[in-house]
Amino acid sequence: MLDLLFGGSCFLCRGAAEGLLCAPCDADLPRLSGPLCPRCALASANAAPCGRCLARAPHYDATVAALGYSFPADVLVQALKFQGELALAKLLGELLAARVAASRVDCIIPVPLSAARLAERGYNQAIEIARVVARATRARLDASLCERVRDTPAQVGLPLAEREANVRGSFHCPRMLGGMSIAVVDDVMTTGATLDEVARTLKAAGATSVVNWVVARTA
Ligand SMILES: [Zn+2]
Ligand SMILES: [Zn+2]
Repeated sequence: MLDLLFGGSCFLCRGAAEGLLCAPCDADLPRLSGPLCPRCALASANAAPCGRCLARAPHYDATVAALGYSFPADVLVQALKFQGELALAKLLGELLAARVAASRVDCIIPVPLSAARLAERGYNQAIEIARVVARATRARLDASLCERVRDTPAQVGLPLAEREANVRGSFHCPRMLGGMSIAVVDDVMTTGATLDEVARTLKAAGATSVVNWVVARTA
């Protein structure tokens, strides 16, 4: 409302905007469309499970992503994650919430950061996004149900098998999750190794279903 009254500028192009983005930049967002694998949200003919998920099923049951991880979605996700642009959590969270509006889960859990990483960054972008999604979908958010017990070494450039080995044992559920259906929220999904390990951990603690709700998906 303040933006409407005083006039704002678009986060991306600095043109006039009523919200964080002007209408042309909003229209440029790479909203995912076309048939996707229901399990991992990669492009897949006829929306059938993709070859990778068929060959080795991940621990998560489904993935919903709002955007492709390409320009300008990557700029927005990185600005939220690394530049403290927390206002972007509302924009990105609402894009994700619109995608999952019809879904029902018992609880939303953001992918946790380790205490050390959280102290260094000052916030967890996944929690900021999850807050917006929880409000919009009236789902319960509980960031205490899954903890990150150790940091993962840098994953960039590593093949999937090494990423999986890297992330193994990184998470811990302090309580049992008997019979719960859970949505795990994160900003971006790349190989899915981290989300797979979160899902493995949640199911080992008793969760019956785990779905990923992510803002952006790499192709
Ligand atoms: Zn713009
Ligand atoms: Zn798949």
